[in-house]
Amino acid sequence: MMHVMVLGAGVTGVTAAWYLRSAGYAVSVIERQPGPALETSFANGGQISISHPEPWSSPSAPLIALRWLGREDAPLRLHLGTDPARWRWILGFLRECLPHRHRRNADAIAALAVHSGNCLRALRAQLGLEYDQQQRGILHLFRAAAEMQQARHKLGLLSRHGIRAQLCDVDQCVALEPALRGFASTLAGALYAPDDESGNANRFTGALAEQARAAGVKFHYDTRISAIRHGDARISGVDVTYADETTETLRADAYVVCLGSHGPTLLAPLGERLPIYPVKGYSVTVPLHDPALAPSVSLTDESRRIVCSRLGNELRIAGTAEIRGYDVGASAARCAPLLKWLDAVFPGAADLDRARPWAGLRPCTPSNVPIIGRGGYTNLWYNTGHGSLGWTLACGSAQVLTDLITGAHPAVDGFPFRRG
Ligand SMILES: Cc1cc2nc3c(=O)[nH]c(=O)nc-3n(C[C@H](O)[C@H](O)[C@H](O)COP(=O)(O)OP(=O)(O)OC[C@H]3O[C@@H](n4cnc5c(N)ncnc54)[C@H](O)[C@@H]3O)c2cc1C
Repeated sequence: MMHVMVLGAGVTGVTAAWYLRSAGYAVSVIERQPGPALETSFANGGQISISHPEPWSSPSAPLIALRWLGREDAPLRLHLGTDPARWRWILGFLRECLPHRHRRNADAIAALAVHSGNCLRALRAQLGLEYDQQQRGILHLFRAAAEMQQARHKLGLLSRHGIRAQLCDVDQCVALEPALRGFASTLAGALYAPDDESGNANRFTGALAEQARAAGVKFHYDTRISAIRHGDARISGVDVTYADETTETLRADAYVVCLGSHGPTLLAPLGERLPIYPVKGYSVTVPLHDPALAPSVSLTDESRRIVCSRLGNELRIAGTAEIRGYDVGASAARCAPLLKWLDAVFPGAADLDRARPWAGLRPCTPSNVPIIGRGGYTNLWYNTGHGSLGWTLACGSAQVLTDLITGAHPAVDGFPFRRG
């Protein structure tokens, strides 16, 4: 039986392991942390946001970035610095802001997102996974009439991909999510996508890893990859260091890279250039004080670039994008705007004193289109670079990667799969 080794046990790695095992491969997973989904997949915004396929690299992005430059509470913070990889990424990002590239990227992400939603629902039904899921849609909230106008244009993109969405006036917003009533006077309206969902990516990944283990996938936790070995055309093994500092070279027939923001460093010595750079984001997870005052429909405050999801007896608020390297510290100052937002929109709903701050590194490509497909070695594959939508796109990406490895026609048409 062909052995596929998955590198990384975030949401993209564990879903890849599941689909590959289901296709009949022997699968092992290498992860430096003591369990699955402990890095970027740990405390993200929780949204399965099929209705938001537009990448951040858009025609209006450069102007928005300039407007926010230097503001302490800005949702986007850019530290230019001298890192050549960061500059390459920023220049790539600017190129992807061209209107025709933005349209093409949004179409690719939308096609994959629709497939991913179907895969997630099928997997949940098949395995009975529980992860604080809510199937009540996402409300994209707008505070200005101009934003409502832009949302009208977006409906075309969504309907082209069969993604259901409707514009709502303020009364309809409150009818859909009564907890918004105190905030209604500041709203201009919303776009509601009823088929979107939310849920805890960390719980989902843990539950799926458990099912994968029971199905025969071998997980190597506390196992750090220090190098990837290669011959002329093939990957020959992976050098790892265990928690007790002993080392070994692990071998398989094929290798799938799901290393989040850390892939480029390990792949560079092989001559493989992955256009991925970490875009840091923050979240706070806050226990509920009064559940009746808290929303259960997942929300995106489009003006503030903040998302909010109900996860069981807690609310998760997430946002901000910081381009400054690999630091994952969650400073109180950077989390403060998220708590301020929660207090303003849902006063009394949650116990702010018990908020748990977190920061993670979105593995972003300049286009936000993930890298799925074959690498420059015959037995090297990628399922990585899912940026701001890794939770949304995980199941579909893993499924189409498995199609590609088995030689089947991938289930998503019009996606730019990597061809080696
Ligand atoms: C604030 C924030 C909010 C977000 N909100 C949403 C949202 O609402 N919806 C959505 O769809 N997406 C969201 N995302 C994006 C999503 O969380 C990511 O795209 C996704 O988690 C990436 O998963 P991954 O498996 O690629 O990376 P990771 O989860 O980081 O997994 C990579 C794994 O590789 C391991 N690894 C790395 N290097 C090594 C090594 N040398 N040896 C061994 N193991 C190694 C790491 O330990 C890690 O476990 C958000 C992200 C952030 C930061």
